[in-house]
Amino acid sequence: MGIHGIARPPRPEPKATCPRCRRPVAVLKTGKCSYCQAEIPGSAVQTQVKAALPPELLLAFEPRAVTVSTRSKWIRRAIALGVAALLVAGVMALCMKS
Ligand SMILES: [Zn+2]
Repeated sequence: MGIHGIARPPRPEPKATCPRCRRPVAVLKTGKCSYCQAEIPGSAVQTQVKAALPPELLLAFEPRAVTVSTRSKWIRRAIALGVAALLVAGVMALCMKS
């Protein structure tokens, strides 16, 4: 259940407003207002899920997410290289035929 909480965190509500300073809070990463640090009531569920998990587990998940993103970046580069190589090979094959 805890893993599901990490994989699919509750979406931040764009229309949530801070109860203290009445400013719209777009991202509720910490469950607190980014302007005055007041706690937002709507983000209480997300805060509870994070608090229920041990900090070591959260730390174990964060570096993995970074590695995946860098790996996908390299895969994308490899695919782009392969497509370029195929295009060059196709042009060369056409030139050799004629
Ligand atoms: Zn505020």
